[in-house]
Amino acid sequence: ASGNLAGIFMPLMSKDDNIATRLVRAAYLYSLNRWKDLGGIGAAIEGAQCGVLHLARDGAHAQVQRQIAASGLYPRAFARWLEAPEATAMLGAPAPDGAWWFEQGGWARPASVCAAMLDACGALLTRRFSSSALRLERGDGEWLVREADGALIAAAPTVILAAGTGAVDFEQAAGLPLDAVRGQVTHLAEGSLPSLPFVVCREAYMTPAHQGVVCVGASYDADADAKLRPSSQEENIAKIADILDVAPFEAPLAGRTGFRCMAADRLPLAGALPDPGTPGRCERLRDVPRWPGLFGLLGYASRGLIWAPLAAELLACQLEGEPLPLERQLAEALDPARFLLRERRRAA
Ligand SMILES: Cc1cc2nc3c(=O)[nH]c(=O)nc-3n(C[C@H](O)[C@H](O)[C@H](O)COP(=O)(O)OP(=O)(O)OC[C@H]3O[C@@H](n4cnc5c(N)ncnc54)[C@H](O)[C@@H]3O)c2cc1C
Repeated sequence: ASGNLAGIFMPLMSKDDNIATRLVRAAYLYSLNRWKDLGGIGAAIEGAQCGVLHLARDGAHAQVQRQIAASGLYPRAFARWLEAPEATAMLGAPAPDGAWWFEQGGWARPASVCAAMLDACGALLTRRFSSSALRLERGDGEWLVREADGALIAAAPTVILAAGTGAVDFEQAAGLPLDAVRGQVTHLAEGSLPSLPFVVCREAYMTPAHQGVVCVGASYDADADAKLRPSSQEENIAKIADILDVAPFEAPLAGRTGFRCMAADRLPLAGALPDPGTPGRCERLRDVPRWPGLFGLLGYASRGLIWAPLAAELLACQLEGEPLPLERQLAEALDPARFLLRERRRAA
């Protein structure tokens, strides 16, 4: 999924400032700082911190957003509520229900974020790329990472599984409740749609043109078809045309299909992986049996760009015994053992 040309990043707002909202806020702010340290978006990282205009869906949705804005909790640079006249002026099309303006949001090319992060590791990191399906085997006090044909690639006491939708193909992670949710992004030639210098989104999003291409996405589909298909493209175009108040049009089939790795509660999994094969009563997360030395960074769903830096930092702190970058309640919400805990509590 990280092969997409562009991913957008922005915060999430909710009236009750629930756990998901707090986590997304932490991830968003952490990522912005991290990327700045790596050289910045638009410099070391391909993309632009051009702002995101997030339009309200309808009048009722706008009313809730207005109440959130009225709480006065958010600095303008983080989130600013725009009423219809201002939102309409920015969009250049009717925005009757208003919008959030996330000034620090924008888009980035995931591959360039990955490259910048890998480069930042310097000589501490040895990279071994392989296109083969890997598997894990427990050796004498360590994990053996093997290619499909059995060849040993590496042996280590600690392994972090960060394989997206492929994680459940590993025997040790097969029981995790992770779904693969298809998504198709449409690539349009610059000029196919009215151009905007920022990201706009509602039911769909559109990035500003970059190297002559505008990205519009992304569909949410239940099937496993990896090929581009006209129906998803038409859906993307119809949604963005509605947002920009232009007539739907036909465009050559171009884009990219990927699969989001999504947990039942849509939150990531960051931490030690549970071992469902070991029986026992579980009252708390710390009672849940875990594989020795096996960790996961998974389930980034639709926000991989901002989940990845924070989830990785959280896990690094857990492994090193450092203070966590999140309060305990939020860190526990990402514990990969939360699903097995619920199952065992229900069974008890
Ligand atoms: C259409 C679409 C649009 C999206 N838009 C956005 C967006 O706007 N903003 C945003 O933040 N996020 C977006 N996302 C989500 C984002 O792309 C993902 O959250 C992110 O890419 C997940 O990264 P990952 O490294 O966990 O997994 P992936 O990028 O899926 O990488 C997993 C890697 O593991 C490898 N692998 C798996 N199993 C094995 C195995 N057995 N052996 C060897 N290798 C293996 C795979 O080949 C792959 O390279 C979008 C996703 C899709 C599909």
